[in-house]
Amino acid sequence: DAPAAGKLSTRFDLEKETELRFEVEAAEAAEQVELELLTGMAEVFGSELNRNKKYTFGPGSKIAVFTWQGCSVNLYGKPEVAYVSKDTPMLLYLNTHAALEQMRKQAERDNERGPRVMVVGPTDVGKSTVCRLLLSYAVRVGRRPTLVELDVGQSGVSVPGTVSALCIERPADVEEGFSVQAPLVYHFGSTTPGTNIKLYNKLTSCLAEVFSQRCEVNRKASVGGCIINTCGWVKGSGYQALVHCASTFQVDVVLVLDHERLYNELKRDLPHFVRVVLLPKSGGVVERSKDCRREAREEKIREYFYGFRGVSFYPFSFEVRFSDVRIYKIGAPSIPDSCLPLGMSQDDTQLKLVPVTPGRDLTYHVLSVSSAEDGEEGVRKGIVESPVCGFIVVTYVDTQAQVMKVLSPAPRPLQRHTLLIMDIRFMDMK
Ligand code: ATP
Repeated sequence: DAPAAGKLSTRFDLEKETELRFEVEAAEAAEQVELELLTGMAEVFGSELNRNKKYTFGPGSKIAVFTWQGCSVNLYGKPEVAYVSKDTPMLLYLNTHAALEQMRKQAERDNERGPRVMVVGPTDVGKSTVCRLLLSYAVRVGRRPTLVELDVGQSGVSVPGTVSALCIERPADVEEGFSVQAPLVYHFGSTTPGTNIKLYNKLTSCLAEVFSQRCEVNRKASVGGCIINTCGWVKGSGYQALVHCASTFQVDVVLVLDHERLYNELKRDLPHFVRVVLLPKSGGVVERSKDCRREAREEKIREYFYGFRGVSFYPFSFEVRFSDVRIYKIGAPSIPDSCLPLGMSQDDTQLKLVPVTPGRDLTYHVLSVSSAEDGEEGVRKGIVESPVCGFIVVTYVDTQAQVMKVLSPAPRPLQRHTLLIMDIRFMDMK
């Protein structure tokens, strides 16, 4: 467990309620940085560190080690930056957790449901981090909250282009985040809600419905409540999507990170019993460039097929005959209202299943494998609202032979034959 010989070691003594922030260089060849707690107690985004254990962080990691009581830690290797900050909003975040916990206690007493919380704000304000923190604190006091992930660009649960829900049973792993077992995932198909806002709202409602059903049969889930992570798009239809989410999930609390206007708008537009709270962002949250976000998305897809850190997966590559599958895109291009068939609205076109004729342009596209039972026309209706059971990537298309080669986590044959195409592509460089 000793750090690699010759690795630079730097010790930091942290006073109580301060945090050490460090970043690991993003280049793939960058040296990993190891963290070790020597004395005292500390946590990383709500998960406690064990003493004398070395935690490894790979390229691109941006980490904060916070201590309530004071501690000393060692960093091994050369982080891109490392500094201690006294100025953190952690006390406010802890108070937020305490208030939510009060609501859970009350729910338990009165046989009601626990808090449903929506976290909103523009990009790069630390929404995902606040969600992780609140969820980890909740599990640490014995709760079973649900994470609802609505950020289709940077999903913490599944591949990009999806929305999902995950029951949280233990605090996030310091190095790897939450253990993702049996999430409920829906296909959206692109990385911004704006490409099909009707579909986005529809899927939000699907998640809300499934969550409510689970709460009806599972008391712990009901008391635990949920924490909803949203997209950073807070204007126009993006804002309307937040209002829709608040209503369909019947949220009790909205945490607005670092955006006063959004806070005022939500206070104005949401029912008075919804508590809207403005919280500052942490100075440690690092802005991410477009490239950085794209890389993070690619990495998420690579992890899905190949695993990460100690766990390696070995995906399969095989041919699928066009005649064995049905590929759809959700949403037809919008057409002027005057051209719509009688009785049809734009809503219908955005949720419509459009059959895709396989061709070369399918190459590299990520396809969701729908859990909908295979069937003919009549059964098609449920496909949009059906969760997905996995993903494949098209690696080669042979139009002559009418087959496509795919990368798949499971061996052939595909268990389901209804595939939904994403705008998102993945070029397998392995
Ligand atoms: P998005 O725009 O993708 O929705 P976000 O608002 O959810 O972003 P996060 O993903 O929570 O933001 O945070 C952005 C980055 O900043 C992450 O890599 C996270 O690890 C890092 N980060 C968050 N808080 C801190 C902190 N206090 N110190 C150092 N790094 C931090």
